[in-house]
Amino acid sequence: MTQPCIICVAITGSLPTKENNPAVPITITEQVESTHAAFEAGATIAHCHVRDDEGKPTSDPDRFARLKEGLQKHCPGLIVQLSTGGRSGAGQARGGMLPLRPDMASLSVGSNNFPTRVYENPPDLVDWLAGEMIRYDVKPEIEAFDLSHILKAREMWDQGKLKSRPYIQFVMGVKNAMPADRHVFDYYIATVKRLFGADAQWCAAGIGPEQIVLNEWCVAAGGHTRTGMEDNVRLDRHTLAPSNAALVRRVVDLCDRYERPVATWQQARAMLGLRATPGPVAAAA
Ligand SMILES: [Zn+2]
Repeated sequence: MTQPCIICVAITGSLPTKENNPAVPITITEQVESTHAAFEAGATIAHCHVRDDEGKPTSDPDRFARLKEGLQKHCPGLIVQLSTGGRSGAGQARGGMLPLRPDMASLSVGSNNFPTRVYENPPDLVDWLAGEMIRYDVKPEIEAFDLSHILKAREMWDQGKLKSRPYIQFVMGVKNAMPADRHVFDYYIATVKRLFGADAQWCAAGIGPEQIVLNEWCVAAGGHTRTGMEDNVRLDRHTLAPSNAALVRRVVDLCDRYERPVATWQQARAMLGLRATPGPVAAAA
């Protein structure tokens, strides 16, 4: 059987605003509703950031706790992945939500340029975040903005800094970082298979108009893929995406076209080596 495709939905991110697209979910209630619709459409991982009362990115663990609780209640089985990305906090504040023991968290293992600034991931912070993920049994998703990040993940695995075989996500199309280059994409896949085994799972995300391009490359090449409003708020140049679910449905259509089954949350958990059932809902404080 063809391997099922895991669809990850990055619901909010740090940058998109209601001015960019009124359907971007900002409050916890909006985030839970948007994720629920995306989950019903076929997404099995929700990659999550939280915003403060003004809509600005934050790493506030209390907000993450409320979001995680809402998602586990309304989307049973969904894989909750919290962002430790550098746009929403500085230093160790980026990992302040890891004691919530989400199924997964994103982990950047090197630095690179972003559209208007440097995306800083100093080695000591990377090691600290990775250590916290081992401590709280959180599976990292390695965000590979560059080839060196894939090799760094192998080095960290060899050094015992990652508990299990890394799950790598290639991110392509960020301005001033790696573009959506087909040859590089193929080399990324070959590198993952060489370093982590022919059966290693991988995923990719494209930014803006490259989202649908990467979705198709991933589905066709047997990988998993990410969609959602964090990376892109449009269906095409002239049309705003009406919801995260609409972006998920584009990937489901691609899976149909390439005869890839869409992974259930049970299949996704098994493929990624996650707990068969989600962690406990955080007790109300
Ligand atoms: Zn993110």
